[in-house]
Amino acid sequence: MYTVHTLNKISQNGLALLGDAYKVSDELNNADAILVRSAKMHDMVLPESVKAVARAGAGVNNIPIEAYAEKGIVVFNTPGANANAVKELVLCGLLLASRKVVDGINWAKTLESDVAKTVEKGKGAFGGGEILGKKLGVIGLGAIGVMVANAAQALGMEVIGYDPYISVDAAWGLSRHIKHANTLDEIYAEADYITIHVPLLDSTKHMLNKEAFDKMKTGVAVLNFSRDTLVQNEDMKVAIAEGKVAKYVTDFPVEDVLNQENIIAIPHLGASTEESEENCAVMAVKEIKDYLEQ
Ligand code: NAD
Repeated sequence: MYTVHTLNKISQNGLALLGDAYKVSDELNNADAILVRSAKMHDMVLPESVKAVARAGAGVNNIPIEAYAEKGIVVFNTPGANANAVKELVLCGLLLASRKVVDGINWAKTLESDVAKTVEKGKGAFGGGEILGKKLGVIGLGAIGVMVANAAQALGMEVIGYDPYISVDAAWGLSRHIKHANTLDEIYAEADYITIHVPLLDSTKHMLNKEAFDKMKTGVAVLNFSRDTLVQNEDMKVAIAEGKVAKYVTDFPVEDVLNQENIIAIPHLGASTEESEENCAVMAVKEIKDYLEQ
């Protein structure tokens, strides 16, 4: 017999997630396990009773894993459960990087009269390019990177993947038509679009910085749906100003990038689908249940 205490945000099927706006409260007393979504757990004092913490999502930067390990608290995440949701938004990001859809929509909203005629006259400012036949570099061939690589290939892109820990032959579910890059430099040298799908670690922080941008093709589009600080924003702004990077599509708006020309900042919607939230919640509950019942 165990209890899983949950705070705020009860999903439709009765599963519950600990969301961002939680308060530490008496409800947590005697909890055996905690389900957490994006709440920062570093300053939260857990009751002695907690044996497991499950993060309903992929990245675990919001959880002090090492401190928990010292106390014997097991941490789970939900690998792959939100990968399709992120993949679909990355595909949207590829198209947003190549077509001036956002600018065009914003412009169309400003039109007041004789709209059809004005559109025909003014739309020339919003021409774009196609992704068909262009080369996409995928950095990180985990759950999301593999799905993005396969889907981009199905849309007619040439795809080259890089992951120091897994080869394209071993990457689970990866199309055999994806080319393997032995080094990041190969990706930088060849890709027209670069998308990064790696965890945020000390070793990956600011991975896409001036040194990396300098090696990229002029006019490259960069997509970041993983974590904000994988990209060095100051260097990115310079790379954009110099014309090296033509577009930066990020799921992580911060002051640095908001309203910058050629940056499309999406408000962290990568995993925000009903299906993904459900998948993550179900997997997290199962992990906790299996662990506590073993
Ligand atoms: P995953 O663990 O399945 O895959 C990560 C891959 O990155 C692994 O294959 C690993 O070998 C590889 N990797 C590690 N270091 C690398 C390096 N230096 N160079 C290249 N590859 C490296 O994770 P995932 O589920 O695919 O998630 C990837 C990222 O997406 C995570 O950072 C996660 O936080 C983020 N994410 C964002 C959202 C969102 O809402 N935008 C949602 C889910 C996940």
